[in-house]
Amino acid sequence: MLRRRRYPSGMVAYVFDPPPRPAISILGTDAMFPVRRILCVGRNYAAHRREMGGDDREPPFFFSKPADAVVGAGAAIPYPSATADLHHEVELVAALGSGGADVAVEDALALVFGHAVGVDLTRRDLQGAARAKGQPWDAAKGFDRSAPMGAIRPAQGAPPGGRIRLTVNGAARQDASLGDMIWNVGEIIAQASRLWRLAAGDLIFTGTPEGVGPLVRGDRVEAAIDDVGDLTFTIT
Ligand code: MN
Repeated sequence: MLRRRRYPSGMVAYVFDPPPRPAISILGTDAMFPVRRILCVGRNYAAHRREMGGDDREPPFFFSKPADAVVGAGAAIPYPSATADLHHEVELVAALGSGGADVAVEDALALVFGHAVGVDLTRRDLQGAARAKGQPWDAAKGFDRSAPMGAIRPAQGAPPGGRIRLTVNGAARQDASLGDMIWNVGEIIAQASRLWRLAAGDLIFTGTPEGVGPLVRGDRVEAAIDDVGDLTFTIT
């Protein structure tokens, strides 16, 4: 019988040091936001759904990345293995400060601690192969360092509703309105809470607008969202 040995303090003894908890900076404080899970929304902008060859009647859906996929702003991200078609997807990220299950849309925004700019890095060639075979997306979406993020700006009133932009080496690639989202932030949280019990530390990438495209070594990516902040990283 396998038994965990407990010390008098109640602490569990581990066979090796637990890995560090992934965390993201917060504007205005030295305290960090500890990451629990990363949920992502697919096909949440109609024009992006079209550029991906999606059906106009198909609702958005969820997939996930491991928590340790997050990378802070300013990082040099090595071009990932096993792909020849790495793509950028700029997204508004909602960071939850509390959670729950079966949350009503009208109660959902109260769960939001703050917002950040994120990029859902994607091995597009592996995604296409997985779609064709009906296989999972993990290798296409949930790889190491696939979730670069800027600092979290604590929420203040209504969710951000301005422009979301991404440039590569100064050239515009993505430029859209957050108002074009098919599911807004409150609706996304309500939908997700029917599938998972949400909790503090959860990050939700809310989907990307049209204009996704390839990145190559040496590219400098700059992303920004009005009233949220910005994010810069390079591919090396
Ligand atoms: Mn995405």
